[in-house]
Amino acid sequence: MQNRGIIFVVSGPSGSGKTTLVQGVLKDKGLKNRFVRSVSFTTRLKRTGEKQGRDYFFISRTEFEANLKAKKILEWTKYLGYYYGTPKEFVDKQLKRFKNLFFCIDLKGARNIKRIYPGDTVTIFIRPGSLSDLPLRIRRRCQATKAEEIKKRLSLAKKEMLAAKAFDYQLVNKNLKEALKELKEIVLAHTSG
Ligand code: 5GP
Repeated sequence: MQNRGIIFVVSGPSGSGKTTLVQGVLKDKGLKNRFVRSVSFTTRLKRTGEKQGRDYFFISRTEFEANLKAKKILEWTKYLGYYYGTPKEFVDKQLKRFKNLFFCIDLKGARNIKRIYPGDTVTIFIRPGSLSDLPLRIRRRCQATKAEEIKKRLSLAKKEMLAAKAFDYQLVNKNLKEALKELKEIVLAHTSG
């Protein structure tokens, strides 16, 4: 039997569908009891449909900086001017309970988590079916997002794709059902037996 939690870090460009895929695993009857998703702190504004504590802990910049100073943040990044960070206490608690953890974080976060937990981390990069799918996916998800921010997310996405090789797995999300099946296979391979 597995005697500790495994950390799955799922990264990929904005609009690649990484959060939807992770939610798919967390909804699976056979898997959901063994997995939890880390909910990050962020200073960006809440989007329509997002919930405090479920999607993110939406906090002010002052609070984020205070948490950083108090060492309550395990790893963090600045993305398009906003802070994002992983709550340390939550992660420690889940690992002690032998829960397997999902992180949906950026490339810098993936590198840092792998450095902090080298033996227990599996990194997965989600590629969109094609880069031309991304503008629509980003727009659909954050309709209130300014055109300028969408442009920046797309330009970052192109750079992020170049880093895919450094991940343990690369998964193409052309067809959600197929991609979810593959993600479940990866997760099972690392947590069964
Ligand atoms: P979004 O604004 O689309 O929700 O997130 C922007 C980027 O920040 C995404 O790549 C997302 O995965 C990443 N991100 C979210 N939370 C964290 C975190 O706690 N740490 C790091 N390093 N990246 C994060």
